[in-house]
Amino acid sequence: MVPPETTERSAELLRMALPLMSKHADGFRPTSYAIWYEYVNGGNPQLNSEIDASIKSGSKLSESVTFDLYQRHIVDRTEQAVGQARSGLLQVLETVNRSVDEAAGNTQEFNLGLQELGSDLASVQSVDEARSRLVAVAAHAEKMTHSLDNLQEQFAESQAEIQRLADELTRARQEVLTDPLTGLANRRGFEGALAHVMEEVSQQPLEVAVLMIDIDHFKRVNDSYGHIFGDQVIRGVAQAIKSCVKGKDVAARYGGEEFAVILPNTGQRGAQAVAEQIRQAVERSRIRKANSQEAVGNITVSVGFTLWQASEPIAASIERADAALYVSKQEGRNRVTAR
Ligand code: GH3
Ligand code: MG
Ligand code: MG
Repeated sequence: MVPPETTERSAELLRMALPLMSKHADGFRPTSYAIWYEYVNGGNPQLNSEIDASIKSGSKLSESVTFDLYQRHIVDRTEQAVGQARSGLLQVLETVNRSVDEAAGNTQEFNLGLQELGSDLASVQSVDEARSRLVAVAAHAEKMTHSLDNLQEQFAESQAEIQRLADELTRARQEVLTDPLTGLANRRGFEGALAHVMEEVSQQPLEVAVLMIDIDHFKRVNDSYGHIFGDQVIRGVAQAIKSCVKGKDVAARYGGEEFAVILPNTGQRGAQAVAEQIRQAVERSRIRKANSQEAVGNITVSVGFTLWQASEPIAASIERADAALYVSKQEGRNRVTAR
């Protein structure tokens, strides 16, 4: 869940980004949204200065320029953050390693001291001589205790640092794989989750169902209520899909107003039931217009699903589910078709 203050802030940024998006050639597509959102958020000065320079020259941002900005300033930067966290972790491990080496060296020195003392004691002539040997060993022992204390302290510090970096890494990775509008996996997150499911299936054969979902007559929604509300509808549909999946199921925003769901360990009947639940959950949902009580009904989705066949690549199942979705559209929408 996004905390409420973040949601408010996002809504504010969205309001600021929209007029900018509408002026440029890439319109309301997710890449355009991502760069203008980042622009008004102001956390990426390099991006802002490139955009400002381009605006100053009087040209509209074209689709390809938008995509290039998105790639360099959003995708690459998040990947950079992952890389930085990773190299931070390596540095911490190196420091710990050095301390361990040092402590090991001191321990070895101490052991040698003890051995020497053993052989020396056999030949000492006086109590004074024995005492001075013992004093030397005690000094060694103290040095060793000190270096072990140091090591322990260093371990505690490193552990906290490792935790912080690991959290950062998880957050950055999550960001790369998540669709910011809906919180579902994006296309990239979907591919990764899919690979993970297929890896599991290769070790223990399971049934896997693939669902493709597309909002019906979505162009009309945009045309009647505008793109902002359109985005809210996409969010609402995502919410309805989320409410119908659980556990290891993967739900993703596959494209603009298209979603994909993978249900591992689910056969024909289970898949039919989930597909039908999703269809009904969307049909039942009443999506409210922002700052108004007015709810808009009649949002529906068409669904197509299929079961993965062990002999085929998963891409073939996705194509088949897509073909089933097409049949749902042809036969009047707001329905589920199996293939
Ligand atoms: P159908 O029932 O056949 O699916 O009809 P449709 O109108 O949904 O058809 P189509 O798939 O051709 O249109 C999808 C529209 O969704 C086109 C595009 O402008 C809009 N769209 C795609 N992504 C977004 C988005 O992120 N936000 C908004 N508001 N609209 C989007
Ligand atoms: Mg579509
Ligand atoms: Mg559609």
